[in-house]
Amino acid sequence: MSATHVMIRSLSIAPLLGAVLAASAATGFASAGFASAGFAPATAASAAPADTLRRPIPYPVVPSRGFLEAVENGTRTTSGRPGPAYWQQWTDYELKATIRPAERRLYGGGRIVYHNRSPDSLSTLYLHLMQNVHAVGAMRNRPQLVTGGIVLSRVVAAGAELTLQASRRPPGSEDELPPGYAVLGTILRVILPEALQPGESVELELDWTFQIPSRGGGNRMGWSGDDLFFIAYWYPQMAVYDDVVGWQIDPFLGAAELYTGFGSYDLTVEVPEGWLVLASGTLLNPGEVLDPSVLARLGQAEGSDSVVHVVREGDLAAGRATRSSVGGPLSWRFHADTARDVSFSASRASVWDAVRTPVGDRDADGQTDYARVDAVYRPSAPRWANAARYGQHAIDFFSRYLALPYPWNHMSAIEGGGIMGGGMEFPMMTLMGSYNTRSDSALYYVTAHELGHMWLPMIVGSDERRHAWMDEGMTSFNENQSRKEFFPGEDSEDSDREGYLAVARAGEEGEMMRWTDHHYPGRAGTASYSKPSTVHAALQGLLGEDAFLAAYREYIRRWAYKHPTPWDFFHTMEDVTGRDLEWFWRAWYYETWTLDQAVTDVRERGDGTGDGTGDGKVAGTGNGTGGGTEIVIRDLGLVPMPARVQVTREDGEVLDLEVSVDTWLAGAAEAVLTVPSGSPVVRVEIDPEGLFPDVDRDNNVWDAAESAGSEGAESEGAGSEGAESENEAGREG
Ligand SMILES: [Zn+2]
Repeated sequence: MSATHVMIRSLSIAPLLGAVLAASAATGFASAGFASAGFAPATAASAAPADTLRRPIPYPVVPSRGFLEAVENGTRTTSGRPGPAYWQQWTDYELKATIRPAERRLYGGGRIVYHNRSPDSLSTLYLHLMQNVHAVGAMRNRPQLVTGGIVLSRVVAAGAELTLQASRRPPGSEDELPPGYAVLGTILRVILPEALQPGESVELELDWTFQIPSRGGGNRMGWSGDDLFFIAYWYPQMAVYDDVVGWQIDPFLGAAELYTGFGSYDLTVEVPEGWLVLASGTLLNPGEVLDPSVLARLGQAEGSDSVVHVVREGDLAAGRATRSSVGGPLSWRFHADTARDVSFSASRASVWDAVRTPVGDRDADGQTDYARVDAVYRPSAPRWANAARYGQHAIDFFSRYLALPYPWNHMSAIEGGGIMGGGMEFPMMTLMGSYNTRSDSALYYVTAHELGHMWLPMIVGSDERRHAWMDEGMTSFNENQSRKEFFPGEDSEDSDREGYLAVARAGEEGEMMRWTDHHYPGRAGTASYSKPSTVHAALQGLLGEDAFLAAYREYIRRWAYKHPTPWDFFHTMEDVTGRDLEWFWRAWYYETWTLDQAVTDVRERGDGTGDGTGDGKVAGTGNGTGGGTEIVIRDLGLVPMPARVQVTREDGEVLDLEVSVDTWLAGAAEAVLTVPSGSPVVRVEIDPEGLFPDVDRDNNVWDAAESAGSEGAESEGAGSEGAESENEAGREG
């Protein structure tokens, strides 16, 4: 958002000569390919006064009060850059998890050092206890197994053991309460013995246990059969205290995902021998836990461009994947840095494929760096034999496409059929279904999607619980780009676009800016995935690929390892492209308006209303006065977008014209383009490349042959009748 309105395109009449492009690339449209439309508001208004009155003009985007205060405080800016006073918290975790497979129970212990880098004194800390979505009586917005949730046995703050407070006072009203802790659903409130001052750190110690649900955390963790655990949503995790919201302690209801801060993790996982553990982070003691033959093959994989079978089926049968232990479990130790969560898997039935993948040049030494990609799956999921190769491509692709090398040393995809069917991302880890009943390409799609999440939100740490479109929507868009490279020729955007349009046509959309948990249960998907992905593609179509990518990459670069809000994204896209896009954000992100542009008339110049004023008509540069063809473009939907119109003459000449978005933003619902005299116009099409999600594409095309064969051919474009009446009904309602 910029303070002054930047005129994107002039309303003045532009000559059409030289604006002839046969098959324009996307970038061609944005630059020389289109001439601005000649258009006069008065003419259009007299043609359709009712539409002019009813047309909503997108009003400016106003960031939240917290964001505006952050700008005043210098932690955010209106350019989209983090402000000079930007700060965020940091947490060092030392966590230990013991899994007793027969009990299906986790015993956890943790030492958490919370560093207060904010300018505020904090007397209360909040942590998430997300397992409590499985507690009796927990609030939920999707069904959950009731397994009891977390049992805390010890809470220590700054060396003092705290007592459980009976008070159920909601967060924010704890001022007079003494030090202690309270469990408020999925939130743990810790009132400190002494307030934590800016620049200080405080140490918490906690012990806990919980029954592991088979399908937990909204089917994002759990166990399958007697041979696999995937553990996430499992430890007391610091809530985010940020410069815009303060403590963000929206409860976990099952649907919306996480908002977590960055920190370091030292993780110890204790499991019986024979159980293979992978986790977010580098394995610190491979020699103590992995069989030497496995360790050797792992080393081989880390230098190999083709997939190495690190653990094979025969290794499992012989129980040789891990070291044996004497008198107790094996301890697996991991370290993860600058991560926003930690999860792990433990399996005694999974094979392990691994391969290296290039990630670009992390340290600017001119050398390609690599990460290891793991696919860990049970032989009952044979499609997964391709998974390591899929992951290899995805990590390589995103490192290039987003111009930000994958930062960690491994990325592990874990097959968890029985726990979930789709996929769920955690830093360096993903849990995905078996995909036995789907296609190989579907397994590629989900692999690319989950691995794409390593950038959004694992690196660009947005608030998933409130703004799922910022991670899911952009990741769906990114997934589609990787699919384009892996499956050349496929219309990878088709499924998101058609999925969104079907819901839009049914009138069942919720606004993208609505907080994720505030959608009707089961109805957040369109606003979180398919619509933002489609709108992101439309933004690319609007800006041109080069300008879009430059701004998008800059957003990722600016907000890597930070916490962007929607306005930081909006501001950055405007700042880098130099465009005022408030109308775009307002129309697509804050509203459920749809786009529907139509060719409603193609006629010889002089036949239309308003003739003779001279306004709004492209100068007949080719043929003196009075000649030429007029093309009437109506904006039947409510989203204003430029109308890119391709005109084909009988002799094969193709003209690319454009009705500027400013036409619609000025309140008009109709514009007239004039094509100079010449070979007859035989075809007119709006948005021939399909860059924008128009809810009714039938009325985007006028064809002379079809028009001649129908009644009233002179005044009705092909397919326009039904669309117009439909639109009228829509506007009344
Ligand atoms: Zn996702």
